[in-house]
Amino acid sequence: MGTEASLKAFDEAQELIPGGVNSPVRAFKSVGGTPLFIAEGEGAYLVDIDGNRYVDYVQSWGPLIFGHRDESIENAVIGAVKHGLSFGAPTLAETELAKLVVSIFDSIDKIRFVSSGTEAVMSAIRLARGYTGRDDIVKFEGCYHGHSDSLLVQAGSGAVTFGNPSSPGVPADFTKHTLLAKYNDIESVRNCFEQSVGIACVIIEPIAGNMGLVPADKEFLAQLRTLCDEYGALLIFDEVMSGFRATMFGAESITGTTPDLVTLGKVIGGGMPVGAFGGKREIMAHLSPEGPVYQAGTLSGNPVAMAAGYAAVKKLRENSRLFGVLEARARRLVEGMKVAAERHGIAMQVDVRGSMFGFFFSETPVKNFDDACAANHALFAKFHAGMLKEGFYFACSGYETGFICTAITDAMIEETVAAAERVFGAIA
Ligand SMILES: *Cc1c(COP(=O)(O)O)cnc(C)c1O
Repeated sequence: MGTEASLKAFDEAQELIPGGVNSPVRAFKSVGGTPLFIAEGEGAYLVDIDGNRYVDYVQSWGPLIFGHRDESIENAVIGAVKHGLSFGAPTLAETELAKLVVSIFDSIDKIRFVSSGTEAVMSAIRLARGYTGRDDIVKFEGCYHGHSDSLLVQAGSGAVTFGNPSSPGVPADFTKHTLLAKYNDIESVRNCFEQSVGIACVIIEPIAGNMGLVPADKEFLAQLRTLCDEYGALLIFDEVMSGFRATMFGAESITGTTPDLVTLGKVIGGGMPVGAFGGKREIMAHLSPEGPVYQAGTLSGNPVAMAAGYAAVKKLRENSRLFGVLEARARRLVEGMKVAAERHGIAMQVDVRGSMFGFFFSETPVKNFDDACAANHALFAKFHAGMLKEGFYFACSGYETGFICTAITDAMIEETVAAAERVFGAIA
């Protein structure tokens, strides 16, 4: 199968757009390939501009839980478009989606809509700082919370490091209030609290999906809650990826730990640009115009985006048993691949949360970012290229999570496992 048209399109795009892409991970850099240009999606499939068809385990990096071109979401968008694209004034669509999300998340009394996950997290952190009157925040190595300045911090050496910016252009002064802790390691968080003059919040992906899939231990989250309460800091669950993906009612419903604020994105927009953050009434009351913490957006709560999000979340709410079905499929996929890999002497660690799946080429369990880095990423690159040739589109990095959409059938899973077996045979 040829990819000449994609190669040519990539050359042209690189002349006009830095790296040829509008978000770096799309460039296939970490697997050493070149990206496919997509012509269209249909259910579980992606079709590239050379006409090749792939089973899509990326689904726009999470949002499309019903697959491409879901009829009810598509109709909702078309319906909304006919009334106008944007008004910059309140619409009923915003209240409808708010009501739905508030009814689903126990921890959310009030919610604010924005246009991306990055914005949601950035605003939630500002709110936490405004509410507590403190500056420092704690984040975890390997967790991604969007590309805002104070959250672009990489790990240093040692148990606790005050954050160094992980991108040029981010002043160290902006990240000196970001303390780094180790995922699933409560002592590292305790150290942060002991070293800081005042921590506004701890932000965590309760089901981490940006270092591969690495769920937090229940016990760890419970200890985090206790520590936050002890110091009067807020606990923020960043569920931009895991929200409506891992389970219907939020990570709080499967971990037993309730956060003070939750950030959402991806599925909540049904494929349109939507982010959101919400939490307890008393905290949300500090947000402008009710309170003094400023936050705004020309296209926030955009009626077309709200319509797409509402259609997606409502359909999930009406079919919440879907998560069991998706989880069974995800499990069948990763367990099947693991058995196939072992037959060729390749060790694999696999995990699943609802429609999210993860795998590492590693002999030992992956509990944190160091473990994720220690996995065999060179082998992953070969696996990725091999699967693409077989017609299966996996995320182009070993640090990403895979997604099952409702359009993926058991037969497709079996085909994927059979293809993986051939690929393992070739690369082992
Ligand atoms: C994707 C993601 C973000 C950023 O969302 P964008 O819409 O890409 O800005 C933030 N947090 C987590 C956990 C994510 O997965």
